[in-house]
Amino acid sequence: MSVVANSPVWRPFTQHALQPGAFKIAHAEGAWLTADDGTRFLDAISSWWVITHGHRRPEIMKAIRRQTETLDQIIFAGFTHEPAEALARRLVEVAQPGLDYVFYSDSGSTSVEVAIKMALGYWRNRGEARMRVVALEHSYHGDTVGTMSAGARSVFNAPYEPLLFDVARVPFPEKGREQETLDALERFCRDGAAAFIVEPLVLGAGGMLIYGAQTLAEMKRVCEKFGVLFIADEVMTGFGRTGTLFACEQAGFTPDIACYSKGLTGGSVPLAVTMCKREIFEAHYAPDRARAFFHSSSYTANPIGCAAALANLDVWEKTDATERVANLCALQAKRAARFENDARFSNVRSLGAIVAMDLRLGQSGYLATISLDLMRFFNARGLLLRPLGQTIYVLPPYCVTGEELDLAYDAIEAAARQFGA
Ligand SMILES: *Cc1c(COP(=O)(O)O)cnc(C)c1O
Repeated sequence: MSVVANSPVWRPFTQHALQPGAFKIAHAEGAWLTADDGTRFLDAISSWWVITHGHRRPEIMKAIRRQTETLDQIIFAGFTHEPAEALARRLVEVAQPGLDYVFYSDSGSTSVEVAIKMALGYWRNRGEARMRVVALEHSYHGDTVGTMSAGARSVFNAPYEPLLFDVARVPFPEKGREQETLDALERFCRDGAAAFIVEPLVLGAGGMLIYGAQTLAEMKRVCEKFGVLFIADEVMTGFGRTGTLFACEQAGFTPDIACYSKGLTGGSVPLAVTMCKREIFEAHYAPDRARAFFHSSSYTANPIGCAAALANLDVWEKTDATERVANLCALQAKRAARFENDARFSNVRSLGAIVAMDLRLGQSGYLATISLDLMRFFNARGLLLRPLGQTIYVLPPYCVTGEELDLAYDAIEAAARQFGA
């Protein structure tokens, strides 16, 4: 199999001493990756949750090609361009009502960083000393210092712990114990928190932990009661992953600030937006320059990214994308059911197009290395699956078929035979 070793590339989330090689992918199409020696992998995690409709969706590829013929990249302060203007108008239309302003950036982490800065700027410009950010236990919001601060503390950010700012943490809403979450949130809100940031309905990197739409709606009500800004980090959940275009739709409210990135261009090229309600923009609107929102990325609103995102919105609007997602949700739920009474798994769960389950380890499974062992096991069977510890999840692109999904679930079954209790 084509594996690259001895490369100068320092790869993300990789312990090179344990994982010296990487598969060299030459081609991708639909739900499949092909290595340069022809080895194929079913992309059962949408290439780290970014690919939505499928790899190299023709409409999106075409829009990118066309955009390269007129405008590549320009400064976005004092200048603008039609792809950015058109995309912002379209996003305001498709996003939840009230998200009237669009701030562009280039990654999920940056969109969250922007959201936190917007929230703090809002309070400062209103002359209220609110600085406290509240977040959920086990949450993940990115890998910059600000977003690591908002996220859960773990081995991943231990080296930087002294630099991370203090965040008020409320417990994850475990089934039957949601009130504890709401009570904790209310205490922090009452104490004058600035903002509450949350991954709606499912905590991704924290282990695909799912909670109910009603709890999400209650969280919003608590924040509203104390004027605390509600930030929805929809970087993973946005663009269909939970069964609706945006996860917050299922709870029937509009967040004050929302972050979208992974599926924004269908997963083709990097782009992110932070959308917000009018009040947030207006708090920064004044003849006083010091009240402006001081944030920019060099590649803010890159025209090629915007063109890709516009084509992605067209795919949602003009093709059977919505139907496909609904169909995939049903296929996934059916496959999850197969494992529900399997004693080797616990907490079999599904939400929209996502299925996750926790493997109970047997004698051949060691907690410290299980995710790497499982990953190798799946890779050897032509699957891109990347468990989070013992949590195995399937989060496929929407073009995947039932037969292709069965390849993933049969391999999970085989993994349970090898590593399970
Ligand atoms: C992936 C992710 C991020 C970070 O996005 P990047 O593009 O990797 O910076 C932030 N929040 C959530 C919920 C994510 O899943």
